[in-house]
Amino acid sequence: MKSEKGAMKKVRETLAFFYPQVWKQYKGYFAAGVGKLLLDAAQPFVSMLVLPFLIDGLINGEKVSRLLMYAMIIALGGSLLSLAGSVLGVIMEKYDEKFQNYFSQQLSRRVMELDFQLTEDKKALDQVEAARTGMQWYSGGVHGISQQFFGLISSLLTMGGVVVLVAIHAPLLFVVAAVLVLVNAIINHKTNKIEVEQYAKLSKFNRIFSYLGWEIVDFRYGKDIRLYDAQDMLTEKWNVYTDESLKNWEENADRRLPLHLAANGVNIIRILAIYFYLGVRVILGKISIGIFSQMCDAGTTLNRSVERMIWQMQDIIKRTNYAYEYIKLMQYPVALKKGDRHVEEGPHTIEFRNVDFTYPNTDVQVLHNVCLTLHAGEHLSVVGLNGAGKTTFVKLLCRLYDPTAGEILLDGVNISQYDYKEYMQLFAPVFQDFKLFAFSMAENIALQDNAEKKVLLPLVKQVGLEEKLSSMEKGLDTMLFKFYDEDGIEPSGGEQQKLAIARALYKKAPVVILDEPTAALDPVAEYDIYRQFEALVGGKTAVYISHRLSSCKFCDRIAVFGEGQVAEYGTHDELLRQGGIYAEMFAAQAQYYR
Ligand code: ADP
Repeated sequence: MKSEKGAMKKVRETLAFFYPQVWKQYKGYFAAGVGKLLLDAAQPFVSMLVLPFLIDGLINGEKVSRLLMYAMIIALGGSLLSLAGSVLGVIMEKYDEKFQNYFSQQLSRRVMELDFQLTEDKKALDQVEAARTGMQWYSGGVHGISQQFFGLISSLLTMGGVVVLVAIHAPLLFVVAAVLVLVNAIINHKTNKIEVEQYAKLSKFNRIFSYLGWEIVDFRYGKDIRLYDAQDMLTEKWNVYTDESLKNWEENADRRLPLHLAANGVNIIRILAIYFYLGVRVILGKISIGIFSQMCDAGTTLNRSVERMIWQMQDIIKRTNYAYEYIKLMQYPVALKKGDRHVEEGPHTIEFRNVDFTYPNTDVQVLHNVCLTLHAGEHLSVVGLNGAGKTTFVKLLCRLYDPTAGEILLDGVNISQYDYKEYMQLFAPVFQDFKLFAFSMAENIALQDNAEKKVLLPLVKQVGLEEKLSSMEKGLDTMLFKFYDEDGIEPSGGEQQKLAIARALYKKAPVVILDEPTAALDPVAEYDIYRQFEALVGGKTAVYISHRLSSCKFCDRIAVFGEGQVAEYGTHDELLRQGGIYAEMFAAQAQYYR
């Protein structure tokens, strides 16, 4: 009972969510839907009303011309209504494309705007998958739900008409119909329950299949798969999940079989009961042969419309419940509390105060008691071994995650109080795992259409891609990769990194963050970046993460991360004098820089 209430609540919420949006933009859809439902409702009556005249006319020897007219009405009338209904159906299908497009786009946008930490959260990822498949496949989207709604009203009208006819000629048929309604409702309810349960289990499989079947076969993984001979392992993984998924489907089919058999049995009993009752009425002289045929037809139509209505109601519940997953994603709880404080212009000081951090759903504390202040215009070098927490420090700085304890302050105010978008505007980071898109070079740098070339060109020059650019016929409009354009270029790792740096510069944010920017660069290019660092970053605040200490020389301060803590902090000379980790690392690496 509780679950039924929940299901009805979802129906209401789903309709309230989708229909105002659709009504606002696509009123024509509803006009076609209403037209079609009226035609569909009227269609069975053409033959049901005219056939008794034809049969009784034949028996009573009526004029041939009149009989022909009855036959013509039956033959053409029904077909014309059906044809007109199909035309409206096609018009509605065209809207379906538009709906799918519109809601998929909204979904993609939502996924791109989810708090970053949710992209690593299994529950959130499952919700994205459930929303996508629930909306597109299982519910048939808004059109799928509406079809059933219009169908339900149409069935209701048909049923109303038939009830009037049956009440006049053979009222006991209602008893047959009533029993049937009950039995069918129970069977359908059970079948739907099985399906919904099964669907809940499938979301995980669908996510894994789309990873194995779509993302991994992406060409970017191509080299590793071939050279490390990973094909077998990947296919085997696929097999494991295929088996589990198939087991799920088989179980579904097995559970539904007895219900199908029961439904068929009930149908046989129904037909026998109808013929028996009507036959007796003809023998008793209560109805003519023509009406006998009309009632047989009415019995079948009544039965069909009742069955259809039950199915339609339950299908509406099922479809809206699938589509509800979409709403759940659209209203997914935020991972980070967001404020509305305006980020003022001007120089900013950012302070980490006793910050601890543990990644969500993990146990290991990655940062402990980090205290550090970043003054406006300061260039901070963050060094430390792999896994020391340098990148995590940057992720917290950019507020991709919130500290688990302690606080981060911008000009003395906790960063969670600021407008999130405005806060993010302060940073132009180049992460180690930055991504370039299969768009033009200009679009990759500006991440917007119509960026002005005269703004972009100096940046390209600054990051050392001028020569590369002059070799490309289409200049900044050259496409990267080959998804869109056969002539798209495949930039080298170093070139990609330079583009990512150009992107960061284009953003004109007051704080530039370079996370191991030299990892993919050759020594000459690395030297270039260092040499131009001042020009690149200028008076901006900069955080420069590297495990190559040569970068520290041109930074004002150095924070040495060790085991999640700021182990040492000071200028290059101070740290050398301290004779701690930094001095040791520097001595070990110094030979490369002499
Ligand atoms: P560094 O940049 O100094 O190499 P990181 O900040 O990347 O170090 O990583 C610090 C620690 O946090 C590592 O032990 C790493 O495995 C862990 N870590 C990094 N990202 C995540 C994540 N998304 N979820 C869980 N643990 C993570």
